[in-house]
Amino acid sequence: MRWIFQVPTLAILAAGDLASQPIVLTGARLFDGTGAAPLDNAAVLINGNRIERTGRAGSFAVPAEARRIDFTGKTVIPGLIDHHFHLDTRVVPLFLRNGVTSLRDPGKWIESYEPVRRWQRAHGLTGPRLFYCGPLLDGTNPAYPEDSIALQSPLEARAAVRRLVAEGASAVKVYFRLPLDSVRAVVEEAHQHAIPVTAHLETVDVRDAVEAGVDGIEHVTSLGPALLTHKESERYRQQVLADSAARGMGRYRMWAAIDPFSARAVDLARTLARRRTYVDPTLAIFEKQADPREPESAMMVRATRNMIAYTGVLHKQGVPIVVGSHTAVPYAKAGFAYHRELELLVEAGLTPAEALTAATLTGARFLGRQHDLGTIEPGKLADLVVLDADPLVNIGNARRVSLVLVDGRVVESALPAVTTDPGGVGSHQ
Ligand SMILES: [Zn+2]
Repeated sequence: MRWIFQVPTLAILAAGDLASQPIVLTGARLFDGTGAAPLDNAAVLINGNRIERTGRAGSFAVPAEARRIDFTGKTVIPGLIDHHFHLDTRVVPLFLRNGVTSLRDPGKWIESYEPVRRWQRAHGLTGPRLFYCGPLLDGTNPAYPEDSIALQSPLEARAAVRRLVAEGASAVKVYFRLPLDSVRAVVEEAHQHAIPVTAHLETVDVRDAVEAGVDGIEHVTSLGPALLTHKESERYRQQVLADSAARGMGRYRMWAAIDPFSARAVDLARTLARRRTYVDPTLAIFEKQADPREPESAMMVRATRNMIAYTGVLHKQGVPIVVGSHTAVPYAKAGFAYHRELELLVEAGLTPAEALTAATLTGARFLGRQHDLGTIEPGKLADLVVLDADPLVNIGNARRVSLVLVDGRVVESALPAVTTDPGGVGSHQ
C-alpha cells in the first residue's frame, strides 16, 4: 500500500521568503539518514526550502552570495519525526527547538490545532510540520468520548473516514473498542483515499487487525494480547470491554508475565515484518523505574523490561520501527520525551544509527512523505538538526541541539509561546 499525502500542512510562505539567500552548512559530520556511512567535514547547501547539494566541504562550488555557517565539530542529522504527539501547546515550541520538525497527532479533532497554526502564521514559522489522524475511531462507549467518533457500524466507519479525509487527515487511527468488522471497513475506506491506518489495540487481536489491512500499530502494548494464551487474552479482553480503565495496571501485569523471546512472540514479529507493519512502540510513556515506596514497582519494572526487549525482537526480525514521543513521559523533562524514546530504542538493541533511521527515514515512509522528508539528500525539504555532539557515539547527544532548520529556515532559539490553549493535554495510551 502506497499512500499519498493530500492536504498541505505548512503555513504558506511568501514567495520572497523562498527566494532568500542560500545557506551552506560546513565542517560538520553528516548523518544523512540514507544508510550511508557518516561523512566528516561535510557541506550541505540549502537553496530556498530544499537541499541542493551535499558532499565533502570544498568538493562542490557554493554560490558566492550563500550564507556560510561553520559547524566544525558538530553533527547534522535529518529533522526528527514524531508519530505520536498528543497536543500540548506548551510542548510544541519545545519540541521544535529540540529538533522535532514533524508531528503526527494520533487522535484529536483537527480543529484543536488551530491555535498552533495561528501561532505559526503569526510568527512566520514553517514548523513543526503537522500531520493529523483526526479523532479516534472507537466503538460504543468510547474510551475518550471528547476525542472520539463512536462508530456503530462498518457503514458509519466508512462515512467517518471520508469526512476526516475531507477535513485534512493524512492517516486515521482505530481505537481499542472498535470491533474488527469496523476496523476492516476503516482500512478499506482509508486505502481508497490512499492514507494509512494505525491502531491502538486491546480487544482486537493484532493478527486479526493486520489481516484486516491495518498499516501501523501504536504502542508495543497493543501486541500483548497476541502473546498470551487464547484463554488469557480473552480474559483480558473481557476485562477491558467491561471497563476501559482495566487496561491501566492490567497491561503491566500482562507484560510482566510475557516472555518476549518465546516462539509465539518471535512468530508474531515475523508476521509483522512480512506484512511491513509499522510499529510505534512508545516505550517512554510506559517506562517504570524501580521505586521502593511502591508495592507494585518491581512488577512494573519487569513489564517495562519485557516491552523494551520485545521491541528489540521486533527490530531484529525486520519490523519497521518508528518513533512516537507521547508528548510528555515520566522520566524526561518537558520537551525531551522524544529523546527519552530514542534512548529506550537503543536500550532495546537498535544501534544509535538505527534509532535515528527510525526517527527520520522510516518515520517519513509511514507518513508517505519519503520523497520529501527523512533524509538529507538533494531535492528533499531542508528539515535538519545540528547537534553539538555525535549521537552515533551516544544517542543521548540527540538532546544537545545547536540549530534547527525547517523548510530551509533557521528556527530561532527564542520561540514565542503558543498563546491559546485549545483544551490542554490529550493523553491516550
Ligand atoms: Zn497516545
